[in-house]
Amino acid sequence: MKFDWNDVFLSDLTMAFAIEIVVRTFIMFLIVLIILRMTGKKGVRQLSIFEVAIIIGFGSAAGDPMFTRELGIVPSVIVMVTILLFYRLVTWLAAKNEKFESILEGDPMYIIEDGVFVLANDSDLTFAKDEFLAELRQQNIEHVGQVRVAILETTGNVSLFYYSDEDTKPGLPTLPKVYNQKSEEIKGEGNYACTYCACIQHITATTHQCPRCERKEWVKAIDTKRLA
Ligand SMILES: [Zn+2]
Repeated sequence: MKFDWNDVFLSDLTMAFAIEIVVRTFIMFLIVLIILRMTGKKGVRQLSIFEVAIIIGFGSAAGDPMFTRELGIVPSVIVMVTILLFYRLVTWLAAKNEKFESILEGDPMYIIEDGVFVLANDSDLTFAKDEFLAELRQQNIEHVGQVRVAILETTGNVSLFYYSDEDTKPGLPTLPKVYNQKSEEIKGEGNYACTYCACIQHITATTHQCPRCERKEWVKAIDTKRLA
């Protein structure tokens, strides 16, 4: 078989169909706008898993008839209207029934309580720590001891509740240059933060096992106040 660049880029595209693609795309775009308006969502900054699934469904139904000669626009509109009705039905059910909502969207999850990471089964984190530390930095949080409670919402956003300045405790640093000074070897007596669970210990020995998560890697705790 002969390799043909013409096949790769144009296939059997004609001028007439190229113009048709412009028209089809314009129509589909208008339909997508109308249908998205009809979902009742105001914006898409915070999408739950369920809403992302809906958007993928829309996108797939909307895209194909833009450039597929064999596909008319009406079947695609039927698909989108069906998804729309399904979305409205499910959100209506979710509003009526909390249990259904939690199956659909998941539940908010406690990530920090009392300045330390929440552990599942007493020893494991239930979230991606790197991502979460990045999220804390985005909120200008220099160490975990400034945070009384952090909750991971079902949209992926993090809600934070702070200690007042007087109540701020020593905590695990979030800044990479400081955090990366972590080590199993303790250099000098002082307050150290467990790099895994953020638990604080006053350590005098050269090695120490975390009483909460049983890991052994520490970094010097810091107790800077939060800048409002
Ligand atoms: Zn620990």
